[in-house]
Amino acid sequence: MANPLFDTLFGKHAGKSTPFLHLADGSTVTHAAFLAQTAQFAHALRGLGAGPGDRVAVQIEKSPEALAIYAACVQAGIVFLPLNTAYTADELAYFVDNSGARILVCDGAKRDALAPVAKAAGARLETLDADGSGSLRALADAESDTFATEDRSADDLAAFLYTSGTTGRSKGAMLTQENLLSNAEVLADYWRFSDADVLLHALPIFHTHGLFVATNITLIAGGAMIFLPRFDQDQIIAELPRATTMMGVPTFYTRLLNDDRFTRDLVAHMRLFVSGSAPLLAETHVQFEQRTGHRILERYGMTETNMNTSNPYDGDRRAGTVGFPLPGVELKITDPASGDTLPTGEIGQIEVRGPNVFKGYWQMPEKTREELREDGFFITGDLGRVDADGYVHIVGRNKDLIISGGYNIYPKEIELLLDEQPGVLESAVIGVPHPDFGETVVGVLVAKPGATLDIDAIGSAAGQSLARFKHPRKLIVVDDLPRNTMGKVQKNLLRDRFGDLFT
Ligand code: ATP
Ligand code: MG
Repeated sequence: MANPLFDTLFGKHAGKSTPFLHLADGSTVTHAAFLAQTAQFAHALRGLGAGPGDRVAVQIEKSPEALAIYAACVQAGIVFLPLNTAYTADELAYFVDNSGARILVCDGAKRDALAPVAKAAGARLETLDADGSGSLRALADAESDTFATEDRSADDLAAFLYTSGTTGRSKGAMLTQENLLSNAEVLADYWRFSDADVLLHALPIFHTHGLFVATNITLIAGGAMIFLPRFDQDQIIAELPRATTMMGVPTFYTRLLNDDRFTRDLVAHMRLFVSGSAPLLAETHVQFEQRTGHRILERYGMTETNMNTSNPYDGDRRAGTVGFPLPGVELKITDPASGDTLPTGEIGQIEVRGPNVFKGYWQMPEKTREELREDGFFITGDLGRVDADGYVHIVGRNKDLIISGGYNIYPKEIELLLDEQPGVLESAVIGVPHPDFGETVVGVLVAKPGATLDIDAIGSAAGQSLARFKHPRKLIVVDDLPRNTMGKVQKNLLRDRFGDLFT
């Protein structure tokens, strides 16, 4: 027997003095040192009673030790459950209780607030601070630095990852070893990762992007990461010269473009910039290429499936598209009502099937049945189309579709027009209740720094190229769009805020 995920990502680096993590203080953690610490954490977790299949929930700051706990869970057959560091104690209660976690690891500063949460859920509480110290670390330090890897099969669960909660309450996606492994193998190959790569890592590690995409790919390829606690512009600028690749959410790239130090020379040596988790504006893609000569590679994925599509490494990376289905991933566009596959070019719901698709939502059998078809296709909740060249375009979320007077309206079509208007930095188009039409269109705008928006002019300019029923009934200027910690616009909050404009 073996443990496919551990063996392939971690075990193969045993004893190697090659660099794995470069830290902000200039120090480096080698593969061997990382694995020694992993083994110690595996002993500590097992000593606390966590066995194969048990869940260990962690709400801890990003650190090499935090990453070693992920590896330790894989090695000991424990289901790893990372939680967003922004969640409050009340929010955490849901996750700890819902997951049935046996152990909760938190930052020392949150210990008192979370003690009642852990107690109510029957979970043991341990700490790990941002500097890597804490009660769990103290237990681990006393343990041996080798651990007999627990046997697992590809179909065993490796992680529970809760969705970002952009459209509603977060759901616990059950991910198997095979889900994670198959995706890491495909992506490392598709994006040409090798042991020469040094990935600039400023993403959180409680989310699929920073945890699985970035980390697993680096591990499988044998490369290293510059492992930064968060996105700090000064640090990014300082570290870019020793990186070969970077992965980010779109806001990373827009912020860098606003920085004069971010020049063509600074990144001339870079091999690849990847963007995902939220739509990258075509304008950002174009500006980035003008500034740096690099075309950002945009890909599309989600908690439940890891990555589904990607722009090509060698071929044409097209702005505003998320590229092609990855090898092994089937993608189809279907009619939301009938489930039938639609002809090429038509907009419908995006469904995917492949070894990357999760096992279901934890303790949500009905939700799982609604979204995961018996034939293995997962209804992603996103709307999109595939163009004649095979590129996938994301149009928006099914839940954000506006139905006004019986007509379907795709917010993105209107957002693209609004974004082009003078002085507009970005926009979000939502449907709000309307007595005559059921729903009607409202555009929420953010101005570029220093710009004043001429609402009437913007309204009539956008109106010129849109059918009457798509015209925004109202345009509202706000300072910022509400975003969750992954940088995603929370349209449900905008709908709550502006929902009574017409009623
Ligand atoms: P919840 O499911 O709880 O509402 P969420 O869907 O935001 O939250 P995630 O799994 O983190 O949680 O995000 C996946 C979603 O992010 C996708 O379904 C898609 O809507 C969006 N997304 C990811 N990558 C891209 C991309 N490149 N372009 C557009 N949207 C993207
Ligand atoms: Mg989702």
